[in-house]
Amino acid sequence: MLSRFRPYFSYLRPHRGLLAAAIICGIIYGLAYGAGVPLMAKTIFPIIFGQEKTTLPEHWDQNQLTRKLQLTPAQLTRFEPLLSRAAEDFKANSAAREEIDARLERQFTELLTPEQRADFKPKPFINRELTTLQLWLIALWLPAIFVIRGVAGYLNSYLIQLVGTRVLETIRLDYFAKLQILPLSFFQTRSTGDLLSRGLADANQLQATLTNTANEIIKSPATLLGAIGFLIYQAYSTQGVVLVLVTLSIVPLSVLPIRYIGKKLIKRAGHIQRELGAVTNCMTENLSATREVRAYGLESREIGRFRTVSQTLIRVQMKFVKYEKLLTPLIEVISTIGISITLVYAYRAHLSLTTFTTILAALYASYEPIKKLGSLNNDLKRGIGSLDRIEEVLHAPVPIRDAPNALPLPRASGALAFEKVSFAYQAQEPVLREITIAIPAGTVCALVGPSGAGKSTFANLVPRFFDPVAGRVTLDGHDLRSLRLADLRRNIAVVSQDPVLFNDTIFNNLLIARPEASVADVEAAARAAFAHDFICGFPEGYATVVGERGARLSGGQKQRLALARAFLRAAPILILDEATSALDSESEAAIQQALKKLMVGKTVLIIAHRFSTIRDATKILVFDQGHIVASGTHAELHAGNELYRSLYDRQQGK
Ligand code: ADP
Repeated sequence: MLSRFRPYFSYLRPHRGLLAAAIICGIIYGLAYGAGVPLMAKTIFPIIFGQEKTTLPEHWDQNQLTRKLQLTPAQLTRFEPLLSRAAEDFKANSAAREEIDARLERQFTELLTPEQRADFKPKPFINRELTTLQLWLIALWLPAIFVIRGVAGYLNSYLIQLVGTRVLETIRLDYFAKLQILPLSFFQTRSTGDLLSRGLADANQLQATLTNTANEIIKSPATLLGAIGFLIYQAYSTQGVVLVLVTLSIVPLSVLPIRYIGKKLIKRAGHIQRELGAVTNCMTENLSATREVRAYGLESREIGRFRTVSQTLIRVQMKFVKYEKLLTPLIEVISTIGISITLVYAYRAHLSLTTFTTILAALYASYEPIKKLGSLNNDLKRGIGSLDRIEEVLHAPVPIRDAPNALPLPRASGALAFEKVSFAYQAQEPVLREITIAIPAGTVCALVGPSGAGKSTFANLVPRFFDPVAGRVTLDGHDLRSLRLADLRRNIAVVSQDPVLFNDTIFNNLLIARPEASVADVEAAARAAFAHDFICGFPEGYATVVGERGARLSGGQKQRLALARAFLRAAPILILDEATSALDSESEAAIQQALKKLMVGKTVLIIAHRFSTIRDATKILVFDQGHIVASGTHAELHAGNELYRSLYDRQQGK
C-alpha cells in the first residue's frame, strides 16, 4: 500500500537531513520503550520486591541454589531457618554484617556435599538494604526511560511534522499551479467548492496521513523490535523459552483484523472526501449568491440544501468510524488472549512473578505498536482516498500548452484567419461548424446574431481558451497551436462582460495588464478610459482597495477599469464582449469615443447586441446556429440580409 505514495517520496528528498534525525529519534524511542521497560521490570522488581531485600546476594536466591547446586529438599529445609536467622540478625544490627556473612557462609558450606562444595563459590554478602538515595535512584529508572522516550518521541514527531507540512506545501503549490494551467473546459465540469475542498481538505488529510505514517512507521516497528528482542533474550536467559514462543505466536494473529478492516475502509474514505467537497461547494455557491438568496427569499431552501449535504457527510463519516473504531478493541481482545495463554504456561512452568511481569511488560510493549500500525493502516486508506482526488487534478491533461517547438511571437500584426473551424463543448452538438473567414489586420469586426449562435465561442478560440475540434485558426499565418501560448496571449486584450477585479488597489488592478508599466502609463490609460476622474474622486485615489471582485465599485466603474486595462495592454488584438453593456447612457457617448480610440490600428472582435457600438465596424459577421451566414458592412447587410435586418430593426424598436 505504501507503494501508492512512492511518487511522493521524492518530495521528501530535500528534507533528508531532518528525516534522518527523525528516524534516529524514532529508533531511540522504540528501543527505550520496547526493551527498556521490560528490562527495568526484570532488574528492579527483584530488588524492590524480592526476598533479597535484606541481606541476600544473588547466589542465595533459591532458584539459583536449587538449579546450580542441585540442593535436595532436605538441604533446603535445613538451610532456610539459618537464612532467616541471619536476616533477622542483620536487621537488628546491620553493622555486624561481615560477621553474619561469614557465619552464614560457614553454616551453608557445612550443609553441602563435597561435590556441591566444589561448585559453590562463596561471595561476600552484599548489603541489599537500600539507602533512601539508592531506592530513589532505582525507582527513578522508569521516569528516566520515559524521559528518553519522551524527548526522542517529541523530536521525532516534531521533525516529522515539519517535513510533513513542507511536503504538503509542495503538493498544495503543485495543485494550485496546476489549476492555473488547466484549460477552461476543465472548470466547466467541476464545481469551485469541490476543487477548493481537494486543495484544502484533501491536502490536509494527506498531510495527516503522511505525518502519521512517517511518525509511526519508525517508532512502532522500533518498539516492536525492541520488545521482541527482549523476549528472545529472556527466552535464552530463563527456562521460559516455550512460553515466549507461544506468546510471540499470538502477535501475527492480531494482524488479521487489520487486514479485514482495512479493506472495508478504503472505499468509505473516498466517500468522505467527496461529500466534504459537496459541503464546501454548497457553501461557496451560497456565499457567492448572497444577494440572490435575499432577493428571492431562498434562505430556508439554502439551509435545507446545506442540511442535506451536511447530513450525507455525517452518514459517510460514521460509516468510516464504525469500522475504524473496531480495530483497537479487536486487537486488545486478541492480545489479552495472548496473556491468558501466558498465564497458563506461567503456572505450569513455575515461573516467578518477576519473570512473568517482565514478559507481560514486553508483550504489552509489542501489542501497542501493532495497534498503532493498525490504525496507521486506516489512516493510509483515508490518505489514498484524498490522494486519488488530488491526483485527478494533478494528472489532468493539459491539452492547451506550448508545442515542443513553439514559435516565439514578439508582436503580431493581428491578421486572423479561421480555416474550416469546427468546435463542440465536451462531445456535444457542434457549436461552430466549418467556419472559414479571414479577418485582416486592423479590421474592426463585429459579431452579431441571436443569443447562443456561437459568437463568444468564436471569439474564445482566438486566445486559445479552447482549441478547435477540427480546422485551424491562424494569426499572421501561424497556426495558433504552433505559437508560444504566453506570446499569443500577450498580443490580445480581452474586455469581458463582467470584468473581475482582484481585492487590491485600483493601481495594481490596472497594472496586471502590463506589469512593467509606469505610473504615468497607468494614469494615461485610466484617462483614456474615462476612469481617471472617478478614481481621483476616491479619498485614496489609485490606492483605493476595490473589495472582493470589485464589490465597492459600480458596474460602469468596473467596466471602465476593464477598458483602462485594455488601453494599458496596448495589444494588437482586442476582444470586446458586450464591453459597454454596463455603462450608463451618460458616460456611454464618452466611452464610445474612448473605444474608437482604443480600436485604432487594432484587429478587433466585438460581441455586442447594441448596434450603436458596431455600426462603425469595418466588417460585420452574422452568426446563426454555428455558421457565419453573412458578412459585410452595415449598409450591405441591412440591405441584403434578412436575419441582420430583423435583429437590427428589433433593436431600433421598429
Ligand atoms: P453566443 O455568444 O452567440 O450567445 P455562445 O458561443 O456563448 O453563443 O454559445 C453557443 C452555444 O454553445 C450555446 O448553445 C451555448 O449553450 C453553448 N455553450 C456555450 N458555452 C458552453 C460551455 N461552456 N459548455 C457547453 N456548452 C456551451
